[in-house]
Amino acid sequence: MNKSDAWAIETRANAAKAGRTKYWTGKLCARGHLSRRYTSSGICCKCNTENSKVYQRRLSNLIKGVKDDTVRVSYRIPKRHIETLNTYVDMLNET
Ligand SMILES: [Zn+2]
Repeated sequence: MNKSDAWAIETRANAAKAGRTKYWTGKLCARGHLSRRYTSSGICCKCNTENSKVYQRRLSNLIKGVKDDTVRVSYRIPKRHIETLNTYVDMLNET
């Protein structure tokens, strides 16, 4: 696939049929980004990145709060689960 094919305007259904993970609408998203969209969800790639950052921030604040004992959760989170969550936050930080 050459670059002009990658940026050709197409419908989500067409992208799905062609097996492409992303597609280009040539239109602004609801938040005003001009970005490709994920075929699986129809979500704009920039919105997705922003949502991930918000989620990542909330998750790290939660983990920090649980560790510092400033956030009370209604159940005890086992230490190994906190380590798993930390791994996810690290993975998100790398992207
Ligand atoms: Zn967007």
